Amino acid sequence: MNAFSYTLATQPDEALRERATPRSAYLGGGTNLIDSIKLGVEQPDRLIDVRRIGFDQIEALDGGGLRLGAAVRNTALAYDERVRKNFPALSQALLSGASPQLRNAATTAGNLLQRTRCGYFRDGLSPCNKREPGSGCAALAGFNRIHAVLGTSERCIATHPSDMDVALVALDAVVRLRGANSERTVPLQKFYIAYGEDPAKENVLAPGELITAVDLPATSWFARSHYFKARERASYEFALSSAAVALDVRDGIVRDCRIALGGVATKPWRAYAAEAVLKGAKPSEENFLAAAEAELRPAVARAHNGFKIELCRRVIVQALQTTAALT
Ligand code: SF4
Repeated sequence: MNAFSYTLATQPDEALRERATPRSAYLGGGTNLIDSIKLGVEQPDRLIDVRRIGFDQIEALDGGGLRLGAAVRNTALAYDERVRKNFPALSQALLSGASPQLRNAATTAGNLLQRTRCGYFRDGLSPCNKREPGSGCAALAGFNRIHAVLGTSERCIATHPSDMDVALVALDAVVRLRGANSERTVPLQKFYIAYGEDPAKENVLAPGELITAVDLPATSWFARSHYFKARERASYEFALSSAAVALDVRDGIVRDCRIALGGVATKPWRAYAAEAVLKGAKPSEENFLAAAEAELRPAVARAHNGFKIELCRRVIVQALQTTAALT
């Protein structure tokens, strides 16, 4: 573990000033960052503790949306009555992830910045383009059972590990960012970068930028949403495949829908091809299957993860059936 300095910030501007060095990092709940530091995967020379700078509330927005503060704990978010009622997929995704102890500590912003669970990334020794750009990817010819089948490249096939972010992508979430002299918003599905040429670059955060909140827009039919997750065991386990689904069904026709996938792609994966199949169609099992197949057509299996394609097909259909049955 490398030596680092620690600074407790009490104001956002103070945090932004302190973060002005290239190898510094913000510390929120620390549930992923501290792990990564211990493993040597991340080596910041300076930690700026942002747990006292605010952004720890869930605020109502005009029309029924919500602003989720960056420092809101996962537990508080999962059990918020407005979230449970109007955005149930988000509450379900949060409660399907980690353990109660971790959810009590983990924050909204930290969840957005989770690092992959690829074992070659975390062992600190294997060739890994994400940890050490240009060194190669041990997972390509290695044991790749948990790895991605969508959005991969010959440089990286790691999955994004979050459940929460999959639900947020399906619910049209928008990330609010603050820099030293500016503020901006980015739709969450554009916040993440598919690994492509540079697997070390995972999102569009500029150096030093601070995540202050995530906005959920008011969309009445998001109350008809659901998160379904397939995993190796019943608790405290990452997804092999998951789906967050929201359906707007009127007069027996899918007027609009959102589908996002977890556990199978290099980022929380918005399933645009599946959505296109369903819009204007009947909410039938046949159409759900056609939607899943459209999305998975470009999937690329490696030596050990081919089962994920069939598993994901079934997860999508199950999530859609459950959501369609909600009243
Ligand atoms: Fe590294 Fe990505 Fe390859 Fe894993 S899959 S070893 S994170 S480059």
